[in-house]
Amino acid sequence: KAKEAGRNQYHFFAQEMQQQVNRRVELEQHLRVALEHKKLTVHYQPIIDIVTGQLYGVEALMRWPTDFGQYISPAEFIPVAEESGLIAPLGEWLLGQACGDIRRLNKAIGLNCYLTVNVSSQQYRLGFNATIIKQIMQQSGFHPENLTLEITESILLEDDKAVTEWLQSLRATGVNLAIDDFGTGYSSLSYLKRFPINTLKIDRGFIQDIDQNQDAAVLVNAILSMAKSLSLKVIAEGVEQQGQLDSLKNLGCQYVQGYLYAKPMAIEGLIEWVERFTLISERTCHKLWLD
Ligand code: C2E
Ligand code: MG
Ligand code: MG
Ligand code: MG
Repeated sequence: KAKEAGRNQYHFFAQEMQQQVNRRVELEQHLRVALEHKKLTVHYQPIIDIVTGQLYGVEALMRWPTDFGQYISPAEFIPVAEESGLIAPLGEWLLGQACGDIRRLNKAIGLNCYLTVNVSSQQYRLGFNATIIKQIMQQSGFHPENLTLEITESILLEDDKAVTEWLQSLRATGVNLAIDDFGTGYSSLSYLKRFPINTLKIDRGFIQDIDQNQDAAVLVNAILSMAKSLSLKVIAEGVEQQGQLDSLKNLGCQYVQGYLYAKPMAIEGLIEWVERFTLISERTCHKLWLD
């Protein structure tokens, strides 16, 4: 009886695994078609400078719309893109698209909005490099000084020398480098001195209960003071509530990103949002001026 149950369970798991494999293969094929037919889009999420109250920049996030008006989550399709190598053409496409969009936005509204773009460690292995960046900057007319590439700590675990040279060659184009999801990796902090990094993006996990949990606040405080002594900018990710924002203000964090201000939006939505936000922040400044 027990043996039979075990066998059934085995069959169940095998079946489930097979289904997962099938889904991956299917996703990969659909993703390839979506890329060819230009079916992917980019959404932009504002990053706010809470010291000046102004928009600092936007993060570009890849979106895959289905025919039914929904989106397939990046958490699901980015790993497929990485495993299949599709992340290389996808990443280059996104960078070009985002640089063009934000250049037009800046021109139209007279802004100097920064752009940040995720670069997966798989792109490093697949040959993403300074030549590609320069080409895209030239085609889009975007200034590399206004661009930040977000990498994850996992890449810093690879061969030290090769990664350092790669990062230095990227920096030499003028772009800035940020560590995304900071605090979730396993690497030692000493890399912050060795690698040419400009910015840390504190992972949402540390921000979630920053106003409830003393330990979380202590950790963020430590990250902020370390960043300060290394002259790094810090962006807090996933700020959803006023209480979290207040805590971050008290700790002296300058940049925040999260649903409290805005969700990621298509470029049309971003333009409207920016116009509204600029009006509000001007009015607030004006009010402060009068008071
Ligand atoms: P990420 O780079 O850490 O991006 C931030 C994620 O947090 C985004 O999820 C964003 O929508 C979400 N987020 C922002 N504010 C809040 C908030 O207040 N609360 C909560 N709960 N979430 C918030 P998204 O767009 O689903 O992307 C997930 C991940 O997929 C990204 O995490 C990034 O690692 C990857 N990804 C997305 N686009 C690209 C891309 O173009 N290239 C690469 N290589 N990876 C990408
Ligand atoms: Mg990111
Ligand atoms: Mg990321
Ligand atoms: Mg992140």
